[in-house]
Amino acid sequence: MPLLRFRPNSGRCKLCHGEVEIRVDKDSTAPIECPKCGQAIERCPQLSAPQAKVLRKPSASEAKSAGFQVYKRLGKGEYEKQ
Ligand SMILES: [Zn+2]
Repeated sequence: MPLLRFRPNSGRCKLCHGEVEIRVDKDSTAPIECPKCGQAIERCPQLSAPQAKVLRKPSASEAKSAGFQVYKRLGKGEYEKQ
């Protein structure tokens, strides 16, 4: 039986830490609720790469206020500190 990863639809859970592994028989239907907390769950994407939660790029001013140094790209390998 493959061990599949599920996550609560709410995206967060203190009991299963937002993700739970459940053995699912390929002949049986996938569980719809977390065995630990009872929340509705969905299959995690099979992608191995972590899902980025960033929906948009931060602006230069936001990056600065977050403590990042902002460089403007001038050309290949050239950056200017703003
Ligand atoms: Zn849970």
